[in-house]
Amino acid sequence: MSSDAEYAAEPIAEETLAARVEELLAALTLQEKLGLCSGRGLWQSASIKRLGLRALSMTDGPHGIAFHSSLKRATRFPAEIALAASWNPALLQEYGVALGVEAKTVAKQVVLGPGVNICRTPLNGRTFEYFTEDPWLNSRLAVALILGIQSEGVAACIKHFAANNQETRRMSVDVNVSERALREIYLPAFEAAVKEAEVQTVMACYNKVNGDQGCENHRLLNQVLREEWGFKGLVLSDWFAARNTRDTASSVRGGLDLEMPGLAAKRMRAKDLKRSLQAGEIEEQHLDSKVRALLRTMLLTGCDKSITKARKIDAQAHRPLALRLARESMVLLKNEGNSLPIDVDAVTRIAVVGEHAGRRFTGPLKGGSSGVWPRREITPLLALQDYSRGRFELTEDVAGADVVILFAGLGHKIHQDCEHYDRQQLQLPDEQVALIHSTVALNSNTVVVLINGSPLAMEPWLESVPAVLEAWYGGQEAGTAIVELLFGEANPCGKLPVTFPRNLAQSPAHVSERTFPGDAQVHYDEGIMVGYRHFDHEQLEPLFPFGHGLSYSQFDYSACLLNEEKLSADGSIELRVTVTNASERAGAEVLQFYISELSPRLVRPPKELKHFARVDLAAGASEEVCCTINRSMLCYYDEVENRWRADAGDYCVHVGSSSRDLRGEAHFQLLA
Ligand code: BGC
Repeated sequence: MSSDAEYAAEPIAEETLAARVEELLAALTLQEKLGLCSGRGLWQSASIKRLGLRALSMTDGPHGIAFHSSLKRATRFPAEIALAASWNPALLQEYGVALGVEAKTVAKQVVLGPGVNICRTPLNGRTFEYFTEDPWLNSRLAVALILGIQSEGVAACIKHFAANNQETRRMSVDVNVSERALREIYLPAFEAAVKEAEVQTVMACYNKVNGDQGCENHRLLNQVLREEWGFKGLVLSDWFAARNTRDTASSVRGGLDLEMPGLAAKRMRAKDLKRSLQAGEIEEQHLDSKVRALLRTMLLTGCDKSITKARKIDAQAHRPLALRLARESMVLLKNEGNSLPIDVDAVTRIAVVGEHAGRRFTGPLKGGSSGVWPRREITPLLALQDYSRGRFELTEDVAGADVVILFAGLGHKIHQDCEHYDRQQLQLPDEQVALIHSTVALNSNTVVVLINGSPLAMEPWLESVPAVLEAWYGGQEAGTAIVELLFGEANPCGKLPVTFPRNLAQSPAHVSERTFPGDAQVHYDEGIMVGYRHFDHEQLEPLFPFGHGLSYSQFDYSACLLNEEKLSADGSIELRVTVTNASERAGAEVLQFYISELSPRLVRPPKELKHFARVDLAAGASEEVCCTINRSMLCYYDEVENRWRADAGDYCVHVGSSSRDLRGEAHFQLLA
């Protein structure tokens, strides 16, 4: 974690900041204010040279500094869904620091990330750019990443606010979603980012939410984000999203501060704003609030200081972190008969099959706006060639090999894991399924490594292979991490941040065309029953449940103990459980704590994740883990009263190694 003093924006006390903003605002002419509401060019706000303010310069995230917005090679970290599978907020915070450092190196003040849209459908083309289907996991990861980025004096931009859960008709679709589902599922990560991480910027989405465009959504931007949550930062449009708004005045009144980018056909052009002002459709105070938000972000990110020009990013500096993130994010889905790790002393010939072994997944615009162009990418094939030297022979002879490693998955192609398009099927492409079948027919000892960024169906072939490792898009060091895990140089510890359904029919978003992809409207009829909440509610058996992930170690859980069985409205109780690594190998386990209300007044999900803890355990070691339970963890959103509430009554807390591998439970009562 390094901090470059030359670049760092120094922390500013709130009063000093507010006073400085007012001072600058008072010094601006009306014309200058009008000009500050839209960007200049693709990646910048306007500057105010007269007052010594440089433009706010932005770069796409969230997987590294995107090439198209920085024109610099940068470290390509694992995709967001992979990062989420680490269930490791502390590591995400370190990642955030690295992103902040690289952003400063290329003279950028804003990183456009993290993306926190919920995985509602496994087919969303941008699932790989988001974390999870669960609002609590989403919030913890978002907060950690933002704290990391912003600790370097760079602003994070949480996106896409809100309910941007599909790419099909993303510019126009009107998402019909209940207030309760918004509050319980789709908004919590944004709320936590504002309240706990003081995220400096928010990107308003392309889609409509309950009838209003994301960029003119008075309810979401003004009432919820600003008034309720106290957001003081900058709301910027997704790129070209302001064009969708009804007119200039609506986007101003609707809460948008900065229109991006600043190319022709702007909605918030100075002359249009002026006309609206003169016609009395907007007032100068509207304008002032926007300019205040921009000035605030500019000051927080040091736009009033002189900086060195963009420099080359040190290609070595973050390789170890990129590798660690990749290693911690990969998920061992299946490991029958402990066929993994491969015992390197017992093999002489290993066959490598599948074009994903040697394919590169990084590069400019690969997958869309999150594409990063690193100086190197260690493909699995490169890493295997390196590791095999002096140990075993790599062969194409499947039948004659001791083990086959088959690489399959998706890519950043249209209708796979790619911005602008949703996927069209949950299965792997047909030719890959055929490849798995034909390979297994020749050699049943075939281990499948998946490289992809969204849930996959596997039923036609899963039974026929002993082991499956979900490697995601693991970034520039992915190949090394895969090899370390396959050969037991490292121990898998990732857990799925999304449910893998058996088929599309199991997924709540796929009831009909109305629920996905919709037409002009899409209806979130499943309400709060998203992801494992739905699978639990409908008692469906997924292919792999939320939170699932195997290890080469075995973890035993003690009985759980609650220190009290009655929880008062303003008190807390503690659940303790001891986890033991009952194996001869060091490993890490993620303990997951889910809470259920036993006789809810309204329908509630059968259980909800409310806490998790990752523990690293040496062979034979034990650790006690504590989950502190308070009333806020029992709340649901009451749409009638428009508030969060928790009802007195009986609750159960479960501890599990996944959402379907529960190892213990304890009951308690919430007092009135
Ligand atoms: C994407 C955003 C991205 C922006 C700038 C949009 O198409 O939705 O996530 O930050 O482009 O590249």
